[in-house]
Amino acid sequence: MITMITKELHNIILLIDSKLRDISKDISDKESIYARSIKLNEEVWELMSLVLANYWDQRDEKLLDFSKEKLGHEFADVIITTLLLAKSMDIDINESLVSKLIKIKERWLI
Ligand SMILES: [Mg+2]
Repeated sequence: MITMITKELHNIILLIDSKLRDISKDISDKESIYARSIKLNEEVWELMSLVLANYWDQRDEKLLDFSKEKLGHEFADVIITTLLLAKSMDIDINESLVSKLIKIKERWLI
């Protein structure tokens, strides 16, 4: 099996997942999935806010707050939150990436 997710990233996701479960012991798996879904939506919103700040007219205070580093961090937040949601739904994201990329290659490269 090809490794799409590095061991380090995988281990960090497991660590964050474990810490989040420790601090929210009283919520069910279903509630955890809801919470992570809402968090993913928040992170996508934060990313889109910075994209808009950089590429379209925004209020001056938003433009002053923009940096390429912050934009990169928001992309990272979306990826990490997505991986945490997949983990809570028992999705093997490495396997999903490999099989999806095969489909994408077939569609675009053949
Ligand atoms: Mg964020």
